[in-house]
Amino acid sequence: MARELLEPDRRAELAENLARLGERIAAGCAAAGRDPAEVTVLAVTKFFPASDVLHLADLGVRDIGENRDQEASQKAAEVARHGVAVRWHFVGQLQRNKCRSVARYADLVHTVDSVRLAAALGSAAADLRPDPLEVLIQVSLDGAPGRGGVVAAEVPAMAEAIASQPALRLRGVMAVAPQSWEPAAAFRDLAAVAARLRSAYPQATWVSAGMSGDLEAALAAGATHLRIGTGLLGKRATLR
Ligand SMILES: *Cc1c(COP(=O)(O)O)cnc(C)c1O
Repeated sequence: MARELLEPDRRAELAENLARLGERIAAGCAAAGRDPAEVTVLAVTKFFPASDVLHLADLGVRDIGENRDQEASQKAAEVARHGVAVRWHFVGQLQRNKCRSVARYADLVHTVDSVRLAAALGSAAADLRPDPLEVLIQVSLDGAPGRGGVVAAEVPAMAEAIASQPALRLRGVMAVAPQSWEPAAAFRDLAAVAARLRSAYPQATWVSAGMSGDLEAALAAGATHLRIGTGLLGKRATLR
């Protein structure tokens, strides 16, 4: 057996974090009148080793988020070598020259935010994948440059660009709450963008919103996918 599978302390720590997170989500859903079964947790494992992914998969967490292609592709290969199947979500800013790599291992890309990126990802997915790549449009709620995302007014054009790619499947929207905003206000804005998109694309039902610090606000506003790093894995070695 692989050495990392014999680290009972880390496994116990992850199990405890997972239990505590489950309580927070249950309470957040109860407060919002929602069913926790509607909510998927992605464990964002950036900076943490593949052995943590194996532990989490064993504990029932099968959705894994990563934000750097090089780290993600290596980790995905290592997890696959152990014969463990998880769903890889790419949640970082994506450059067009990384699309062919990401299209190989990712099941979902949360961060499509330009027409040119949609085209590059669509052609990579068509070349390299047997099944379509599911994608979300990253929305920039404050329009600040540099952190990715399109402003709400650009979402319809983005949706069209994605829909024109047969190898992509539009599933919804993603956002990070701007640092200086009330998360509740940010996620309400995102919910409005999501509802408008859904009226034109009924299959675009996913709302990827909420991280360790603001998941309650995201749940209250209808998030379907929470992206949890520190709340599950602990503090990262470096801020990202
Ligand atoms: C790192 C990261 C997260 C997780 O953040 P935490 O605050 O550690 O839960 C969520 N979303 C994205 C896009 C990230 O890069």
